Order: sequence, then C-alpha cells, then structure tokens
Amino acid sequence: MSNTPQAIPKAIRGTQDIFGPEAEAFAHVVETFERVRKLYRFRRAEMPVFEKTEVFSRSIGETTDVVSKEMYSFKDRGDESLTLRPEFTAGIARAYLTNGWQQFAPLKVATHGPLFRYERPQKGRYRQFHQIDAEIIGAGEPQADVELLVMADQLLHELGIADGVTLQLNTLGDGASREAWRAALVEYFRAHRADLSEDSQDRLERNPLRILDSKDSRDKVFTAAAPKIDDYLSAEAQDFFGQVTSGLDAAGVDWTRAPALVRGLDYYRHTAFEFVTDRLGAQGTVLGGGRYDGLMESLGGAPTPAVGWAAGIERLAMLVADAGNHFKLPEALVVLPDGPNAIQKATALAAYLRSRLPELIKKIDRERWNRNFAIDNASVGGFVANGDDGFNPSIEIAFKHNQRKQFEKAKRDGASVIVTVRDDGQPSPRTMLVSSHRTKKDMELGALGMHALWSLVEIELGEGEYSLVHDTRIILPE
Ligand code: ATP
Ligand code: MG
Repeated sequence: MSNTPQAIPKAIRGTQDIFGPEAEAFAHVVETFERVRKLYRFRRAEMPVFEKTEVFSRSIGETTDVVSKEMYSFKDRGDESLTLRPEFTAGIARAYLTNGWQQFAPLKVATHGPLFRYERPQKGRYRQFHQIDAEIIGAGEPQADVELLVMADQLLHELGIADGVTLQLNTLGDGASREAWRAALVEYFRAHRADLSEDSQDRLERNPLRILDSKDSRDKVFTAAAPKIDDYLSAEAQDFFGQVTSGLDAAGVDWTRAPALVRGLDYYRHTAFEFVTDRLGAQGTVLGGGRYDGLMESLGGAPTPAVGWAAGIERLAMLVADAGNHFKLPEALVVLPDGPNAIQKATALAAYLRSRLPELIKKIDRERWNRNFAIDNASVGGFVANGDDGFNPSIEIAFKHNQRKQFEKAKRDGASVIVTVRDDGQPSPRTMLVSSHRTKKDMELGALGMHALWSLVEIELGEGEYSLVHDTRIILPE
C-alpha cells in the first residue's frame, strides 16, 4: 500500500483560495478601509475568531437564519460549545462588556477578518467570507448613525464603486413602534398563512418581521402590500429618523427610503440600512447594518445604545474589479546579479534602494525629471506631487543567476529598469558596476519615474559609499 499515491486534499466547500488579481482587489479594499477608518478616527480592534456559542445565540436571536441554521458550532475538548464567528458585532459587544470599554464611550471601533456561515455556496456567497466592520458603541444620538453612513458612503466612493450602489434606508422604530408594527404584520400574514413559504409560516409566530426579508417568491407577493412601519412610528422614533435623514442630506449622501427593509438579525432598533447594487446578481447587498440598542442587555450588560455596519470584502472586491481596475504589481526596478561573485553586491544595492526609497522619491524633483525627459511640466508636477497614488515603485532582486532567463523574466514582469550588477571578479565593497536598460515597455509616467529615480541613485551612489563605475543606457522617449 505504501506505493499508492496519496490523494491531494481538496479545499473545504465554500472556502476560497484567493490569489492573483482577486487577492490584489481584496487587499485594495482592506487598505482603503484602513485609510478611511483612520480619517474618521475609528480605533482598530482584533477579535477572536471563535466565541462561546451563547455570545451569538443570545444576541443575534435563536430564530434567525444565522443562529438556527448557519453557525459552525462544535464542542471543544473541555466539552464547551464554541462557535466560529458568523459576524463581528456580537463578539465586539461581548468584548466591550468583558474589558470595560465603557471608559472609551462613545467608542468608535473597526475591524476586518474572516467569518463563517454554513450557507449554500454560490458566487458572492461563501462559507468562509470576509468583512470589514465599523461600530459606534455608547452613542444613542442619530448623529452616530449619520457618521457611520457617511463613512460607508465615502468608502464606496474611494473604492470607485459608488455609482450603481444605492443606500436603502429604513427605521424599525423604538421598542413600542416595533411591537405595534409586529402585531399588525402577524395579523396581516396570518390571513395569507397557507400561501406563504414553509419558512415564513414558521417565522409567522416567532419572527414575523423576517418574512419581509424573505427571498422566496411565494412570500414576495404578500410582502409588498404588508403594513408599513410608518403607520406605527411613535413621535420620538419619527424624530430620530428625521435627524438621520437630514444629517445624510447635510453631508450630501444619497439615500432612498425602503419601508420594507428589515435586517436578518433580531437586535436592530431604529435605523436599518443596506447598500445595494444590481451588479452582483442575487448577492446584491454589499454593506448592511443598523442600530442595535438592545444587544448589550441580551448579553447581560447595562443598556447601551450602539450602531454599526459590516460589508462583505469579496463582494466589494468584485465591484472594484468590475469597475475596470487592474491590480498590477507596482513599477519595478529589478536588480540582477550577473554571476555568483555579484550576488552580495546585488544584495547590498537592493537593500540600499529599499531602505532609502521614500527619501529618494522625495528627491526626484521636477527639474531632474525635465532634464531627463522632455515631457510637459504640468503632468510631471502633478505626478510627482501625487506621490504614492501615481508612483509606487518597488524593488525586485533576482535569486537565480541565469542572466538571460532572469532578464526575460524581469521584462515579462513589467520591469521599467533592470540594473545588472556585474560579476567583474573584483568584489570590492566600494565598487559596483551597473548598467541600466530600458525595456520595450511603453514609457508610461510610472516608468519615467523609475528612470528618474535610477538616474538620481547613480548620482547618490557615485558620491556615497559606493564608487560607481557605470555603463548606463537610458533611452529617452521619442
Ligand atoms: P444576505 O442577505 O446576502 O445573506 P446578510 O443579511 O446575511 O446578507 P449580513 O449579516 O448583514 O448579511 O452581512 C453583511 C454583509 O456581509 C453582506 O451585505 C454581504 O456583503 C456579506 N456577506 C454576508 N454573508 C456572506 C456570505 N455567506 N458570503 C459572502 N459575503 C457575505
Ligand atoms: Mg445571510
């Protein structure tokens, strides 16, 4: 039997190995989120991937889809029931209570990472997926809702995907409004009980609001004409919602009223919202959230108003890719040792370039650029000033020293400048022989930047520790 080849293990259904352009788009979403969360001064938190099962069952609600059929729960070796987190909010609320984060209230906190739900896998719906998440805990003011929604809107704009994504906004009212609405919904749906889906018949007694969120066509017939929350809103709830909408208007955030929007989790009060697109087929909700003033009490804490949202990173990344973004690796300068004796010199040069890159980029000035390349002032000025947006150089070093193959690979990988460090048989640390080649690549601004960078480095190195004997051939753009 020992000769039998071992079967290669398969990935778990509903998980993804994200790589290549998808992985770059994914990272771009996270990086943009990190930038925006800092701009809005949200603190960062890193949360456990698993919690005691009750953290989720008590807060999200036993009758929700998530708790009743989607959780990955298991007994650990100590016979304790644990669950892989299906969402962030419950764990963050638990942490708020266990760590005394009340001292930071109102606490603006954000995180991102993997979540787990036992769902039917399809495009945009996975069993391990990832979210970015933002919460404001300990603020009952409608301005907290506004802050989070404005932040979400800015994030979508910065990702370049705001077009075709609409903010659908609803209020579920306060406790009293919600109860009156709930009673009206039960009465209404009871009259159509036999025609509802099995799931919704079941929800009728336990969780009637959720019927409105049903994706079953048998239910949709009735949800359109169901009683609307507006007829049951208390004056306070109306006022609260009015302040949220006028805050959005003041900040210039577009929204539409969605009177039947309820969220899949039980803990929401007042504001509930989703950013929805029709560009992702059935998985059209990219970001969802709302106010969850009752959640802390369900975990045994003091009443604590809070509001938050989460967005699926995979769905955002798909929109980012659909918007025509190509995630290439950045402009590269490749250092290529010419033979075994050049390896350490090449290593030294790459280390020098990598550690001094920001400083060197700052030194590339308009004058130098113009001296080297006859292109117009305005575009170069803008490009240099843009810094990391326009010009994000990277340094690669080749490991294997079959020169010809490395040269070909560097060109294939889009190198703008290839620096060969010569194996001249005289490994003096003060001598570095280099030559620079322009690739066939179009002289884009990024490539021009790389050449300007290298021409600067030649001067720097010539004056510094290394005496540079160079054989440089930079071909000017036609
Ligand atoms: P849906 O109605 O699509 O099932 P949901 O209401 O269950 O979404 P939330 O719990 O509000 O979703 O999660 C917020 C966001 O997380 C969603 O809008 C979506 O972008 C993303 N998301 C939720 N479940 C998945 C999943 N299984 N795979 C990928 N992304 C998901
Ligand atoms: Mg769901």
